[in-house]
Amino acid sequence: MILKPRHRLDTIEDVEEFYAAIQRENLTRSLSEDRPYTYWTIELYDQANGIRGGGGLGILAADTRRVAEQMNVPLTLVTPFYPREFHQKFEKGKCFDVSVPVSYADFGFELIDKVNIKCNNGLVELSVIEKEFGSTRILAITEPNFGELYSGDSCGDHRLYQEVALGFGGYQALKLAGLKPAIMQLNEVATFFAALARLDELASNGMDFYEAVVYTRKHTLYTNHTLVQAAEASFSYEQFEHYVFPNLRSKAVRKWLSDKFENGRIRLSSVTIEIAELRSGVSKLHARVANYRDLSGEKVKFRAVTNGIDLPYWVLPNIIKYYKTVGAMDKFCLPTGDYEEKIENIDAQNIRELKAQGREFMNQVLQHRPDQNGTVLHFEPNELVFDFKRRFVDYKRPWLPFTDPERLKLILENHNAHYILTGRVHQGDSRMTLKLNEVLDTIKKDKFLSTHVHYIADYDEELARALSVGSNISINIPIVGLEACGTSWEKDVGNLCLLVSTHDGGVADAASDSYLNVSGADEKEEIESMYTRMEEAACAWENDFDLEFWEKRQLARYLPIISGTRMLKDYLDYLF
Ligand SMILES: *Cc1c(COP(=O)(O)O)cnc(C)c1O
Repeated sequence: MILKPRHRLDTIEDVEEFYAAIQRENLTRSLSEDRPYTYWTIELYDQANGIRGGGGLGILAADTRRVAEQMNVPLTLVTPFYPREFHQKFEKGKCFDVSVPVSYADFGFELIDKVNIKCNNGLVELSVIEKEFGSTRILAITEPNFGELYSGDSCGDHRLYQEVALGFGGYQALKLAGLKPAIMQLNEVATFFAALARLDELASNGMDFYEAVVYTRKHTLYTNHTLVQAAEASFSYEQFEHYVFPNLRSKAVRKWLSDKFENGRIRLSSVTIEIAELRSGVSKLHARVANYRDLSGEKVKFRAVTNGIDLPYWVLPNIIKYYKTVGAMDKFCLPTGDYEEKIENIDAQNIRELKAQGREFMNQVLQHRPDQNGTVLHFEPNELVFDFKRRFVDYKRPWLPFTDPERLKLILENHNAHYILTGRVHQGDSRMTLKLNEVLDTIKKDKFLSTHVHYIADYDEELARALSVGSNISINIPIVGLEACGTSWEKDVGNLCLLVSTHDGGVADAASDSYLNVSGADEKEEIESMYTRMEEAACAWENDFDLEFWEKRQLARYLPIISGTRMLKDYLDYLF
């Protein structure tokens, strides 16, 4: 099954026509410089601008803004600037985290002014800082004691403070910058307070309360990344009395919000569903299976807008150029009308040459990112590299390839191959820290594995890009049903890596024969399947025919899916 975009924006005329249609057909939502698309996110992963997120949520936010900039869409991204961030260190065979300060002035942000929010019977002063990029900008709020991203308990006071600061502070920041939101996209429920601030403004400025609710709902899109509502944080009435209610001016809004408590607690997902009429999930599978109910008990429907990536950012420039040269991709990085035919023209020799260039880039990055033994790595183009690079969370199963170390060893030995492993454990996840250290012990105990499996600390954007560009085979093995979308695999497909994956998240937007599929009735069978696929992938790199087959297959199925331009267009289609 191949995804066909409904409209194509193949030419600049198409893009102009599309915007003209938006402006004609939907006056209250039309986009302009001072009525931008506003994108709210507690997490942004944009290291070039000094903001390091935790994972996919923040990567998606950064990619969305960059794609909007390329498409000339007026978009304002509102987010906190965290004055401290965590980095992972590796010493004496063990991993641990350190918190380091970051300064916005070092990254070209300008201070616009200050705004206040009310917390705990006092005022908190937030700095509003801004950085412009073409038609887009990052508007951030910050203060010296804002803390780190996701520090502390998800139901704790500090987390609520950060979310309230983003919502109420960020909404004031928009006004300070002279902007009115045409649309508010809430990237997960931590940004709920932004929509609440808008509702409060409308209701306290004379609009009838119910009209204000309808208006806010029609202009708010809630993008969900979580599968199970029960897993989401909730807060107590008392916490709201300290942090939320003091910031509301409208009595009706306060009453409306108070009524949403059940047994003294409020779940942000429930109120976000109430305040956003538009709702999306981040892949076809995720939109279908996300199990959310509104306060009346109805199952919530999510529109599937599969995450895409900013291809020019993540993919080796010469690979992008190659897609354009063969006629599979247009200048907006959207697949052309006949991209499937055009992909038939790619050949093994070109793939190998491009990957050799990628390998050189990877080697440069690895120069300052030594492995667990302190070894500076360098790989020749003829050495095969497997990689596993993602957050170390349980469901992604980073330990799976190490369940049978002898089997892994055999694959690496037979194919002159190395395995690169990188990923950070979520703050405070002691179970996963233990598992990571177990894997590191397994590697250390074996003479061959300790020189052919490389763990690189402090996984970040730089490593993600370097490995996608320079490795041959990437491993993506989440427990089926638990990955909302995942974007690492999209970087890998774009960069001509062969994908060994379970059928989950955005991968499952296409059929399971689109890549080297890992499957099985239970984990034992999946492990067997994984080793078989790893072996097949290694063989494919030794044989032009098989290499071409799988590369063509992956690109034919996934080129539209991985395109960030396609994603933004899908959002615009849904919104307008
Ligand atoms: C792409 C990326 C992610 C997102 O990866 P998933 O596959 O969604 O888990 C997380 N962290 C970094 C540094 C990335 O580059």
